[in-house]
Amino acid sequence: MIKAVVFDADETLLDLRPAIDYALDQVLGNLRRLDPDLAVTREHLQDDWRVVFAEGPEAPVPHIRRESMRRTLARFGLEQHLDHHYELFFHCRYRATKPFPDALATLAELRESYLLGYATNGNSTADRCGLGGEFAFELYAHQDGLPKKPAPEFFATVVSATGVKPDEIVYVGDNYHHDVAAPAAAGMRTAWVNRGGRELPGPVVPDLVVERLAQLPGGLAGLA
Ligand SMILES: [Mg+2]
Repeated sequence: MIKAVVFDADETLLDLRPAIDYALDQVLGNLRRLDPDLAVTREHLQDDWRVVFAEGPEAPVPHIRRESMRRTLARFGLEQHLDHHYELFFHCRYRATKPFPDALATLAELRESYLLGYATNGNSTADRCGLGGEFAFELYAHQDGLPKKPAPEFFATVVSATGVKPDEIVYVGDNYHHDVAAPAAAGMRTAWVNRGGRELPGPVVPDLVVERLAQLPGGLAGLA
């Protein structure tokens, strides 16, 4: 019997990509006010982010953002402007981060039947992203020494926070490796949020696949 439903944040409950793009564009706009001929593009910032993330995916998200932005600015001789633009990025990114349109209604419906939790690798704090007060508990990697997903310790901490058995928990997320394979290895049930209709990328089969959050209440009710 399912007693707890625990959510990934970014790209599961939160429509993060538009907020990141908006924040990057604000940074670019500000940089171009310093130098109208500046050739830096959103792609430069995104490419450096991917490189820094690949070098150390276990690092805290703000560190990855700061180092990647430092590299981009350094390439254009603007490293001395890092602090201001790093702060501008996060100010804009938080201001623009919104839940998907069906998130709050889905959480309200699920709360009638399940304990709800929030457990993320990132820094989308619930209260800054339109999800304040929605969960019985919130867990953030790098707080209190919690390692990032897919570390088994992350999911052991999730289980402890719910106070129920692993197989009474459904972990819900968009990232197959972090949100399906890893929690399944920890004995939890899983719901894969597959908005793009992608092929299953690995051998672990989620207990439930949804394309929209609004499909969760009915899907979860159908799990044995
Ligand atoms: Mg995610």
